[in-house]
Order: sequence, then structure tokens, then C-alpha cells
Amino acid sequence: MAILDELRRERGMAMLLITHDLELAAATCDRLAVMYAGRIVETQAAGALTATPRHPYTSGLMLSRPSIDEVVHRLPVIPGRPLAAFEADDGCAFAPRCAHARPYCADGRPAVVELEGARVACTRAGELTLQGES
Ligand code: SF4
Repeated sequence: MAILDELRRERGMAMLLITHDLELAAATCDRLAVMYAGRIVETQAAGALTATPRHPYTSGLMLSRPSIDEVVHRLPVIPGRPLAAFEADDGCAFAPRCAHARPYCADGRPAVVELEGARVACTRAGELTLQGES
């Protein structure tokens, strides 16, 4: 990563990093986009996304990360299994696993809304207060 970052700086280029490692992404990137079932569900500046996630999936990812400051016997998990892009129907693809789901979440794919610098594809984004990194 140090070599890639050095090359990026030297050549004045942008870098698109695709990873499952949220810590690495947050430490390396200016802006993060979280994908679920083949679609972007949230985009925010890296610091804002980890501190104040706006999509329930992002919050679930943040809470399921191990901490070097705290010993826990079992990490929180997001229940259920991820959907492949081809399995997602017209409603919110995350609904079967979402603790905040409402029946209307199945009524069409959630529109992307702008919320204090974030872009979020969640019908309830404006009313939820979600936990990020502690
Ligand atoms: S649209 Fe509904 S089911 Fe989907 S993430 Fe938001 S609250 Fe959860």
C-alpha cells in the first residue's frame, strides 16, 4: 500500500481501492463507498462513514470488527447471509438482514438520498441514528 500510495502521489493520480478491509480503506482513502448485493448503498468521506454510518449495513460492518482495545468472546454479526446481485429483487436487498426493516422497505429499491454529505440508499436513512466505530 505504501508503494501504491507513493506512486499515486508522484504521478498525481487517483486510486480506486476495492477491498473487504474497512480499516485499510478508512486509513487509505478519502472517500468510501459500501456495496451490498452489487450496488452502492452508502458513500461518505472516510472519517464520517466510520464515525457516523448512515446505512444499517455499514453500521453492521463497523460493529462486527474486532477492536484491539477490547476483549470480547463473540463479535456481533449481521444475521443471515449476503445476497448475490442476481438474487436481489425490487425491494431493499438488505431487508432480510436489517434490524430496522419495515414492510414498506420491500416496496421498490430504496432511492439514494443526500444526508449531511452522505449518499445513502435506505428508505429510513433520515430517521435512523446508527452506531459507528466506538
Ligand atoms: S431500506 Fe429498510 S430494510 Fe433497507 S437498509 Fe433501510 S431500513 Fe433496512
